[in-house]
Amino acid sequence: MRIDILSVLPDLLRSPLEHSIMKRAQQKGLLEVHLQDLRAYGLGKHKQLDDYQFGGGAGMVMRLEPVVNCIEQLQAERTYDEIIYMTPDGVRLDQGICNQLSMQQNIMILCGHYKGIDERIRTHFITREISIGDYVLSGGELPAAVLVDSIGRLLPGVLNDETSALFDSFQDDLLAPPVYTRPAEFRGWKVPDVLLSGNFKEIEKWRYEKSLQRTQERRPDLLDGDED
Ligand code: SAH
Repeated sequence: MRIDILSVLPDLLRSPLEHSIMKRAQQKGLLEVHLQDLRAYGLGKHKQLDDYQFGGGAGMVMRLEPVVNCIEQLQAERTYDEIIYMTPDGVRLDQGICNQLSMQQNIMILCGHYKGIDERIRTHFITREISIGDYVLSGGELPAAVLVDSIGRLLPGVLNDETSALFDSFQDDLLAPPVYTRPAEFRGWKVPDVLLSGNFKEIEKWRYEKSLQRTQERRPDLLDGDED
């Protein structure tokens, strides 16, 4: 899968992509992330990217031309399945969207800055608008990093244990069960016996019950009533 991220501050994106699972995904050739520096498409000798908003008011707006030039240059090289704009007024990101996007070949992600981008980019180029939650950040780079990480770890072969993403929270509308590791006892706090029993069936049952209980307590909205 190839992801192009269009940004005025591509450096903000480097670190999240250079470690851990994202690094491994790229090393294995399963994920290619290309950072596109919008400054290179800036206008005039100052490489201008933003301008005052029509109608007045505080805050700058990202201009059309640099973004359109960058998008069209990329489109001339390959077909994109989605051109995504990270924006607080988009559809709230969830695991279902991550699963869908992980099945695409080529995706562009546009990061906004300042007051956002000229609306005409949204109207004429953007195929999907995604928010990472009901709060406002200063730029789309952190949201883009969240999106790439959440998609990248779903690509087949990226996680060592192929099945492990399937048991994460939200994959089956349930939150994940509690997990434990060594030591089996610390300050008298014991790991539940069943996990040490070696009885796979009992362990599965316990995990399912804990998942359900946790979901009922914390996120009853995820349950559709079929589980019990
Ligand atoms: N004026 C805009 C906010 C602009 S914030 C509004 O009120 O809707 C600047 C940029 O940060 C946005 O263009 C977007 O790319 C990014 N951003 C901020 N919060 C975000 C969120 N919750 N989800 C996704 N992107 C966000």
